[in-house]
Amino acid sequence: MMNRQESRELELYLHIPFCVRKCLYCDFLSRPGNREEIREYAGLLAEEIRLWGQQLSREDYRVVSVFIGGGTPSCLAGEEILLLGQAWRESFVLESEAEITIEANPGMIDPGVERVWRQAGINRASLGLQSARNQELKTLGRIHTWEEFVESYQLLRRAGFDNINIDLMSGIPGQDLESLRETLQRTVELQPEHISAYSLILEEGTPFYQMEQEGKLETVSEEMDRRMYQYTKEYLQQQGYHRYEISNYARDGRECIHNCGYWQGREYLGLGLGASSFLQGYRFANPSEQEGYRKQLQCIARDDWKHSAFLSPERQSREALMEEFCFLGLRMKEGISRREFNRRFGVRFTEVYGDVADSLLEKKLLAEDAFHDRIYLTDRGIDVSNTVLAEFLL
Ligand code: SF4
Repeated sequence: MMNRQESRELELYLHIPFCVRKCLYCDFLSRPGNREEIREYAGLLAEEIRLWGQQLSREDYRVVSVFIGGGTPSCLAGEEILLLGQAWRESFVLESEAEITIEANPGMIDPGVERVWRQAGINRASLGLQSARNQELKTLGRIHTWEEFVESYQLLRRAGFDNINIDLMSGIPGQDLESLRETLQRTVELQPEHISAYSLILEEGTPFYQMEQEGKLETVSEEMDRRMYQYTKEYLQQQGYHRYEISNYARDGRECIHNCGYWQGREYLGLGLGASSFLQGYRFANPSEQEGYRKQLQCIARDDWKHSAFLSPERQSREALMEEFCFLGLRMKEGISRREFNRRFGVRFTEVYGDVADSLLEKKLLAEDAFHDRIYLTDRGIDVSNTVLAEFLL
């Protein structure tokens, strides 16, 4: 049995697979659902949390973050959030400072429910804005306007949320630097603690992808996409938001604990439809349809998870873990540590990646701060991050 100091950090991710309507670019696991389906799903999710609580010893793990994502978690009714909150509190040991985030869709927060979120211990909210221009929101197929977003944001502030993220998007069809500037300016005026700014990616299977194939979507050129990235970075930095990951910016001390844990290789348990987990060196994912999910709950109740035929957990090879250490760690501004690599894998970083690192350092795609033991991407390296990170494949 481990004492509290020795227990391992764990993150919980709860997936809520419902949305009022699909946005035109979205390939996340979500669909419209009626009240009855949502209520039933929340019950299953609470059951899954409890089952995992029985599988993992309370002494072995302490939960440092809970992230309720989707989908649209704000479609859950107040009592469903309380049910989930009760389940995670009774099943796991939570750090007193645990970060508990809920993703919410602007215009989809029933007045009053935000106070229930606080009661459930939720202390961070993430709002998907994407753009401050209503025309661009319409192009994306979003269901809200800028005005509805501001209303939701203020509702959260009044309920006492002092840690709010706003998601923004660049490369929206029809967007130019001027409209991006307007979105950034209006967002910063609201003073959120954290901003995530991603480029639009055309994912196969989405209406946008289809439209692009048919030549019906006016996409932003790669050159413009890069300029937008640079502009966003410079603008937000001038406004006091530091970039701590390729696409994430925060006020000092407000970096997202949940995301950082993922990039640093912390263990996480994904609960709910389609959610994936990384536990004790194993990776596995939940079924993405309801029937399979129900069956899986029966298995978790009955079997040891490591031997569950249903979960079929796969042990990550040492090489895969090394690659991931570099891929994910280098996404962060502070990059990776040679010493941490040596400690985690029992082999020197130089022996595995010496040639790759030297060549990228020489090309100035990587930089090194030897005094602080950090290797990180340069601005040029970020521009071609996919190519740089591919060099770390073993
Ligand atoms: S709200 Fe989010 S999860 Fe739902 S369809 Fe739109 S992008 Fe996808």
